[in-house]
Amino acid sequence: MSENFEAKTLDSLINMPLATIDIKDDCGITDVPQINSKRSNESEWIKSDEVKKRKRKLKDYQPNYFLSIPITNREITGGIKILQNAIIQQDKRLAKAMVTDGSFHITLLVMQLLTEDEVNIGIDALLELKPFVEEILQGKHLILPFQGIDTFGNQVGFVKLAEGDHINTLLEIAETAKYIFQEKGILAGENRSFKPHLTFMKLSKAPWLRKNGIKKIDPELYEKFINHRFGEEMLYRIDLCSMLKKKQNNGYYHCDSSIVIDELESSSSAVLQSYSKDLPNWPRGEKNGGEPDDAELVRLSKRLVENAVLKAVQQYLEETQNKKQPGEGNSVKTEEADRNGSDRDNNRK
Ligand code: C5P
Repeated sequence: MSENFEAKTLDSLINMPLATIDIKDDCGITDVPQINSKRSNESEWIKSDEVKKRKRKLKDYQPNYFLSIPITNREITGGIKILQNAIIQQDKRLAKAMVTDGSFHITLLVMQLLTEDEVNIGIDALLELKPFVEEILQGKHLILPFQGIDTFGNQVGFVKLAEGDHINTLLEIAETAKYIFQEKGILAGENRSFKPHLTFMKLSKAPWLRKNGIKKIDPELYEKFINHRFGEEMLYRIDLCSMLKKKQNNGYYHCDSSIVIDELESSSSAVLQSYSKDLPNWPRGEKNGGEPDDAELVRLSKRLVENAVLKAVQQYLEETQNKKQPGEGNSVKTEEADRNGSDRDNNRK
């Protein structure tokens, strides 16, 4: 590949959540081929040209979608702005490397969705994830406390999650999401382990900084915040977002679908039981061996109807929006995603 091509590719990645030089090096597909090699074993009859095609696809795996947990608590975002300004005051050029307000998020999973059909499968997978998340949470809130600063290779600056059990819970959700999306045949995941982080700056947003001698985020720039407590966010929503489509007016990514995590409710044990035998290390698979009680069944039916209605609305919106705005791409949003602008502010702790 020519240098020119690589430079162009890098340029086009700049505004993606994963858009850094490290991505290009690190963003691998170890998890995905595992699935595919398993499938290859199962279907030895596959012709060699099909195998080649698949290999090419894996080789070219470039995530363009991601599952995002929006971070909207003003205490956190306000603290990040203070941090960003403190850095900019030390070097004005770094302003261009800052993540903009409205787009703060935790990436749960990256994936590749190339066609409208694949996006629809992603939307289905996200809906399927919802009862699993609620089961993992067991009716409790997941509170994410943010404290301190770290970097990925001095290229990406992020606020860390404080130590605690919430990290394991988040890991469990991320693993479950990866499993569900991969089971649906979606290329999802990375070869590096999941490290939850809240990015506030990345040098790749301004590649010219490198030419101007800024090759690293100097730790002195953020030393005053090294143990700063930024505040807590409660997990209330997970979005399926595009890395490439135009962002919304409020600064947040384009969402094709969202799920809202119901509080204090663990509703879908019956469905989960039928799935749980397939999930790796599913921690609650053995729990509750008996029949679900009536209340549980009512909640489960309610959830299934809700999800079906949500899906129908998504399809309807997709069809009508595609008619109204040809060429604008799929901008389907669920009711929850539509509330991004208003509720993101209201839904804070
Ligand atoms: O997920 P988010 O958009 O905040 O990621 C910001 C950058 O951090 C991405 O470019 C991603 O490649 C990088 N990253 C990394 N190592 C990780 C996770 C993310 O370098 N373990």
